[in-house]
Amino acid sequence: MIRSEVDAMIIVLKKSVTDEEKKNLIERIESLGLSVHLSEGKERTIIGAIGDESILQEKPITSMPGVETVMPILKPYKLVSREFQKEDTIIDVNGVKIGGNKIQMIAGPCSVESQESLTETAIEVAKTGTLLMRGGAFKPRTSPYSFQGLGETGLKYLREAKEKTGMMIVTELMDPRDLDLICEYADIIQIGARNMSNFRLLKDVGGVDKPVLLKRGLSATIKELLMSAEYIASEGNRKIILCERGIRTFETATRNTLDLSAIPVLKELCHLPVVIDPSHAVGRWDLVASSSKAAVAAGADGLMIEVHNDPQNALCDGSQSLRPSKYAELYTQLQTIAQAVGRSL
Ligand code: PEP
Ligand code: MN
Repeated sequence: MIRSEVDAMIIVLKKSVTDEEKKNLIERIESLGLSVHLSEGKERTIIGAIGDESILQEKPITSMPGVETVMPILKPYKLVSREFQKEDTIIDVNGVKIGGNKIQMIAGPCSVESQESLTETAIEVAKTGTLLMRGGAFKPRTSPYSFQGLGETGLKYLREAKEKTGMMIVTELMDPRDLDLICEYADIIQIGARNMSNFRLLKDVGGVDKPVLLKRGLSATIKELLMSAEYIASEGNRKIILCERGIRTFETATRNTLDLSAIPVLKELCHLPVVIDPSHAVGRWDLVASSSKAAVAAGADGLMIEVHNDPQNALCDGSQSLRPSKYAELYTQLQTIAQAVGRSL
């Protein structure tokens, strides 16, 4: 049997669709062995049917009550594609919205090092109006002899800093065995660049009800990033934030090369919020501001910036970390740029 090239369809429902018709449709699609992904937008409700589409072609549902049109999703990534959902996804992180008009800043140290250092940094960062803080408790280091993070102690420090500042916690999950622990503390689970293709880990975070910040792999294409996001979405979790953090090129003047055009390209191909991490992209604190400004101008929904109260003595990525005063200066400059492009910050 020749399998259909298409393995996902969008079923656009009529504006007048009733709950009963919707229920019947869902039951019908499921009875054909396809998985159903419902998306109830402001304008329209659509059903994504994923599986062997030849079944739908053989048993057309176009004529069922409530159906307006049936269209194939041709892209290899389905649920995250713009074809599947026209409107931008806005993710509500306990009241903080990512993907809406307001550009969200995520700031804090590369790794959580001590209670004092984290709290001092967090208090300064919060003064700017920043609502999300970053800090790794489990660190993916190139060398096994480098500082690996404080583990659960680091998570506890993050919680204390959250209690003091009200900022939400973004922290990295490296190993499926730590999923429950990270879920206890994190408001957003970060999947690092090195784990973008760890499909088992992606499926695991796809199964929890927590927003995920998915960082682009060091040498990953945009399509590969979207396929990784699809892994998460296919397990049910659609609260995905994409993060461009610089890719490897032949250039050595900067740590990586920031792919700014990834912002409009991702916006065209998918409906997920896009955040830029200029710190890991450039690798130098003095280059962070220019890339941040460019990212805001190019349409980023947020920035993730490394900030440390004492960069010279940081255990990780001190050379790319801003002092809180520099971060505050940058924050003000970014507000002007955000305004110029019709956004707030
Ligand atoms: C980080 O943000 O802490 C980090 C390790 O970044 P990346 O995974 O992008 O290298
Ligand atoms: Mn870092």
